[in-house]
Amino acid sequence: MTVVALIVAAGRGARASTDESQPKQYCDLGGAPMLSRTLAVFAAHTRVGNILVVIHPDDLALYREASAPFADKILPAVPGGARRQDSVRMGLEALAEGSPEKVLIHDAARPFVDEALVSRVIDALDASPGALPCLPVTDTLKRGEEGHVTGTVARAGLYRAQTPQGFDFESILAAHRAAARDSTLEFTDDTSVAEWFGIEVAIVEGSENNRKLTTAEDLMIADRMMRQSAAPVGTIRVGSGYDVHRLGPGDSVMLCGVRIPHTRALMGHSDADVGLHALTDALLGTIADGDIGAHFPPSDARWRGANSDLFLKDAGDRIAGLGGKIVHADITLVCETPKIGPHRDAMRGSIADILGLGMTQVSVKATTNEQLGFIGREEGIAAMATATVLLP
Ligand code: MG
Repeated sequence: MTVVALIVAAGRGARASTDESQPKQYCDLGGAPMLSRTLAVFAAHTRVGNILVVIHPDDLALYREASAPFADKILPAVPGGARRQDSVRMGLEALAEGSPEKVLIHDAARPFVDEALVSRVIDALDASPGALPCLPVTDTLKRGEEGHVTGTVARAGLYRAQTPQGFDFESILAAHRAAARDSTLEFTDDTSVAEWFGIEVAIVEGSENNRKLTTAEDLMIADRMMRQSAAPVGTIRVGSGYDVHRLGPGDSVMLCGVRIPHTRALMGHSDADVGLHALTDALLGTIADGDIGAHFPPSDARWRGANSDLFLKDAGDRIAGLGGKIVHADITLVCETPKIGPHRDAMRGSIADILGLGMTQVSVKATTNEQLGFIGREEGIAAMATATVLLP
């Protein structure tokens, strides 16, 4: 089954336009033209083949820009007519030579159409020559005259019609050709043309999001929604840390919270865990809250031989206190020995436990210093760390 999409973008949108040179279907919605947003949904849909857009001849430059990302699926644009139904007919005539089986006719001004809705319409076309996505009317409907209510309209069985409206291609082309022979016939959507011509149309569940953007206010709200959904909820901060400790006599080293048997030990006031010290500084860096020495001065006897878990936990608590979340921690240990690889996952697990993170949020890497300098001579071990934090 070949399915093509016909996007109607030829209107002038007089109700929404604040600038004559920028019809609403080309207005910016969160950084992309409305038409691009609409085209993206059909271009990404695996069951939709080619796409053809009916445009206003004055909009060619705007159209080229908006459609450029979808060049592999899109057919040359067709200029529209005076009325929507003329534009649709001209689009159908242009598609006819490719003999598609089904066509989805969609208004460019409904950029919030989604993949599932398009699929529902395509599925309905297996059993019916026409398919209309729509929603039941939930508001009470009133009839009015000269500013006064004159009656209530029963809303049972009433629906709000949306697009894309799907049709058997040959049937809807014949309906539009027949409608064009009588210039007094006016239709506001393609299902009206189908009804008039006697094509059966099935009702498909529409979507509240798939609203038509009509007024300048609609455009403003849609633009704001698009921008909010694209932005992270908060501020991303990245901090870095570095630490070195001297190697001296001993039988084990503490690295990233894991004790590893070794021919020497790291010297320092606390347990001298360079990995945790570098990461603590990286975390403090994200909230511009000094460094490890400022919070735990080596001159204070309380921190003699202290377990460095304490320092790291304190930095994590300071971030949490500001409503922040640690996104990721990345540590690089620089040493000739001991080998880090066999202990890597234990180190990641230890850091994840201390900070209340998942293993996948913690990275521990290692490198030698190619026997160069103080690290190469095994006089000390260095560590670098980068922390990423999301602050509200
Ligand atoms: Mg240190």
